[in-house]
Amino acid sequence: MSGFVFSEKPIRIERGEGALLYGADGTEYLDFGASYAVCPLGHGHPDVVGAATDQLERLTYVQASYPVDARDRLYDRLAATAPGDVSKVWLCNSGTEANEAALKFARSATGREKIVATMQGFHGRTMGALATTWKQQYREGFEPLIGGVEFVPYGDSEAMAEAVDGETAAVIVEPLQGEGGVNPASTEYLQAVRERTAQHGAAMVIDEIQTGLGRTGTLWAADAHDVVPDVLTTAKGLANGLPIGATLCREWIAEGAGDHGSTFSGGPVVCAAADATLETIAAEDVPSHAAEMGAYLATELAAALGDVAREIRGSGLMLGIEVKRGANRVLRDLAIEHGMLALPAGRSVVRLLPPLVIGEDEADRAVDALAAALTGEASQ
Ligand SMILES: *Cc1c(COP(=O)(O)O)cnc(C)c1O
Repeated sequence: MSGFVFSEKPIRIERGEGALLYGADGTEYLDFGASYAVCPLGHGHPDVVGAATDQLERLTYVQASYPVDARDRLYDRLAATAPGDVSKVWLCNSGTEANEAALKFARSATGREKIVATMQGFHGRTMGALATTWKQQYREGFEPLIGGVEFVPYGDSEAMAEAVDGETAAVIVEPLQGEGGVNPASTEYLQAVRERTAQHGAAMVIDEIQTGLGRTGTLWAADAHDVVPDVLTTAKGLANGLPIGATLCREWIAEGAGDHGSTFSGGPVVCAAADATLETIAAEDVPSHAAEMGAYLATELAAALGDVAREIRGSGLMLGIEVKRGANRVLRDLAIEHGMLALPAGRSVVRLLPPLVIGEDEADRAVDALAAALTGEASQ
């Protein structure tokens, strides 16, 4: 019946509004992960819908070598908000493409091959990005991937220092690992990676595809760690639900980037949506709200879950709850019995990625649902 290659969930979603999703049978679901960090402003945000609709009517497409206002505005806004002197922008359609470009640009700009990535890291599923993704399950059956990639333990500055040398084109690293289990990195670690790469003329690529756009409590997670990378990649929430990715670079990377292109790069409709998303995130100080709500949610969860949770970790509204039973069973219970949609991050972590505009009432509902699902599990 289904045309999809992979398995589907038994919930058909028909409509969304803010942090809520509605099933075809009218059931209301709290979206704490069904949108995978793709809707920071919530479903159907009027500013984004309006900007995209206007642009759709005016001009849906023209190739990227013809300047259009929506794209120029987005370039300017990305350059103005990116860390430090990261100011050059390459636009594409997804996270994996943003990382693919980052790796190509770094190789081209340095004239080197070697890439250092981290264990448990996730950077996408096209052949290049996949080669920097740790999980064997994602790689199986597709090898050989691109060569020259070395993995080091995440958070280990010494191992990183050892791996990075004069042959290294790039280090690619998440400032807070998402798929790999919601694993935070310390400021000391990220700054050590910054120093070591700078010392050897290698590019530091920060993958902010999940952490960016206010998710962790600052616009970019790099901001909180005082790190200015050579390349920053973003995607997921950038156009609040429409497909877009961006590779933001320092001048030296952009100058040596080599030849790269994509037909849909910088399409006017997604650019208009992304520009409106960034404008609204800034105007409503969404990152500060995410920091506040994240702290509230983590505190309330700790109080409600007690030792049912082994650990609650993360930053802002990117939280992981290490549970004692398989995360997938908890998630199924949460969805079917308690109307809340969340995500796994590995076998034993329940990951929360709600829209950043949730209020205390929605946080409270999520805490109640999680407490019911998790204590229900524990008492069986
Ligand atoms: C989702 C994600 C990607 C891949 O993005 P896609 O749009 O799915 O290709 C890469 N890196 C991180 C950190 C991600 O969370």
